[in-house]
Amino acid sequence: MGYRQYIIFANTADERGESLYQLDRRRARVFTMTRLVMKFGGVSVADGARLRGVAELVSGFRPDNEVVVVTSALQGVTDQLLECARASAKDGRVDDVTAFIGRLTERHNQAIDEAIKSPQIRAEVRAEVARKLSNLEKAYIGICYLGELTARSIDYISSFGEQLAAPILSGAFRDLGMDSRHYTGGDAGIITNSDYGNARPLEKTYELIAERLTPIRGVPIVTGFIAQDEKGVITTLGRGGSDFSASIIGSAIGADEIWFWKETPGVLTTDPKIEPSAKTIPSISYVEAMELSYFGAKVLHPRAIEPAIKKGIPVRVKCTFDPQSPGTRIVKDELNQNGIIKAVTISSNVALLTISGAEMIGTPGVAAQVFTALARAGVNIIMISQGSSEANISVVVEDKHLDKAVEALQRDLPKEMVREISQNRDVTAVAIVGSGMVGTPGVAGRLFNAMGRAGVNVQMISQGSSEHNISFVVDSGDAKRAVQEIHLEFGLNQGWAGGSGGETS
Ligand code: ASP
Ligand code: MG
Repeated sequence: MGYRQYIIFANTADERGESLYQLDRRRARVFTMTRLVMKFGGVSVADGARLRGVAELVSGFRPDNEVVVVTSALQGVTDQLLECARASAKDGRVDDVTAFIGRLTERHNQAIDEAIKSPQIRAEVRAEVARKLSNLEKAYIGICYLGELTARSIDYISSFGEQLAAPILSGAFRDLGMDSRHYTGGDAGIITNSDYGNARPLEKTYELIAERLTPIRGVPIVTGFIAQDEKGVITTLGRGGSDFSASIIGSAIGADEIWFWKETPGVLTTDPKIEPSAKTIPSISYVEAMELSYFGAKVLHPRAIEPAIKKGIPVRVKCTFDPQSPGTRIVKDELNQNGIIKAVTISSNVALLTISGAEMIGTPGVAAQVFTALARAGVNIIMISQGSSEANISVVVEDKHLDKAVEALQRDLPKEMVREISQNRDVTAVAIVGSGMVGTPGVAGRLFNAMGRAGVNVQMISQGSSEHNISFVVDSGDAKRAVQEIHLEFGLNQGWAGGSGGETS
C-alpha cells in the first residue's frame, strides 16, 4: 500500500550540501501515516451516545492516521423527513409539521447533550441545529401551502438528516480535544448534475474535494448522501448514498483505504441467521463484492464503491462493535484465494417466470421480444436462462414486478408463438460467489451433487461466462437447507487459516 511518508528533520540547515536522502537517513525521524476515510451510518449514529462513541473510536486511530469522517443522518431520520414531506403535500396540516419539528428538535438536542460535555460547544451546536431546524420548518410549511412536492424539494428536505447530524458529531470530536470542522457535501466539493434524488458527481468534483479538504486539518466531518449542483441547489445521491459519498471523497483525496463501519463483523460467508457457523471473509476482490451485493448480501451497494474501484483504493468493512478486528478488506486483486468460493447468498424476494411454446424453437427474435416487453413494463430481470431446446425461456424477476411482467408478456408476445407463461412466486435464488471458480473444473458438479444429497430440487440455473458466480433457483422452503449444505461442502465454516486481512497492510 502506498503510505505517505512524513519526514521531520531534526535540523534542516544543511551546510555541507547533503542530499535530502542522506539527511533523511542521518538525522530525520521518518514515520508513516495512513490516510483514511471512515463512514458511519445506521446504528453507529443512532443517538448522542453513539455519536460520542464514534468520536472516541476515531480518536483511537489518531493522530497516527489522517482521518476524514463521512456521516449519515441519525438512524431513521431520513425516512421521517420524507414521510412528513409527503404528508404535508397531501394534507397540508401545519400543526403536524410543528409537532414533527418539535420531536426532531428534542431528539437532536438530546443527542447534543449526550455527545458533548462542554457547555460552550453544546451551546454553539445547539444554535446551529436550531437554525437548520427553523429553515426546515419553513420548507415544510411552504409545501403545506403549495400542496406539491417536487423532486428538488424532496432533496432539499431529505438533506437535513445529515445536515443536523454533522455539527453534533463534529462537536463531539472537539469536545474530546480534537480539531474538527464540518462540511456539507457541497462545501466539501461534491458538485453533481441536477438529477434530483439520484444525482451524479461531475468530473471537477474530484479536484474540488482535494482542494478543499487537503492538507487535512484535524478531523473533517462531511455529510454523506448530499451534494449540490452547479447552481448551488442541494441534490442527493440516492438512498443509502453516504457510502457513495465516502468513496468519492476517498478517491478524491487519494486515501489509502476507505472504511465502512457497519454493524456486521465484515462481509460474511453467508447470513448467520441461516447458518450460524458463518465466518467473516478476510479479503475479497471488488468483483466478488459486487457479485455478492447483486445477490442480496446488502453490505455495500456496488455503485457505492465504484469511485474506489476506479482508483484501486482498498475498501474495508469494519464492525463498530469490534473496532480492533480487521473486518473484510475489498481489493482489486484478491491473492488470498483460499477456497474456490467465498460466499453463498440468497435472495427470496424473487419470482420465476417461464415462457414456453413449441413455436419458439428455431424462431429468431423470441428472446428479443420477451426482453423488450419486460423492459417496456419497467421490469428488472435478475437471471435469465434458455435451454438449447429453445422450447422455453426462464427469467427471474423481483417479486413485486411479477404481475406487471406477466401482463406485459401476455399483451406483447404473439399468441401463436407462446403456449404458456407460468409463474412461481414461492422461489428463492441462491448464488455462490468466488473468483476461485474461474477456470476451475468441477465446481458446478460439487454444487449440484450437494443439492442432490440434500434433496433440494433445482428449478433453474444460470452462470455468467465471467464464472464469478453460479446462481440457481429453488423452492423457498428448500433455500435454508441449500445454503447450509453449500456452506459445508465448500468448507466456508472453517474460516481462513492465517488469512487475516491485516490492519492496514
Ligand atoms: N441518510 C440517507 C438514507 O437514509 C443516506 C444514507 O444513510 O446513506 O438513505
Ligand atoms: Mg420469492
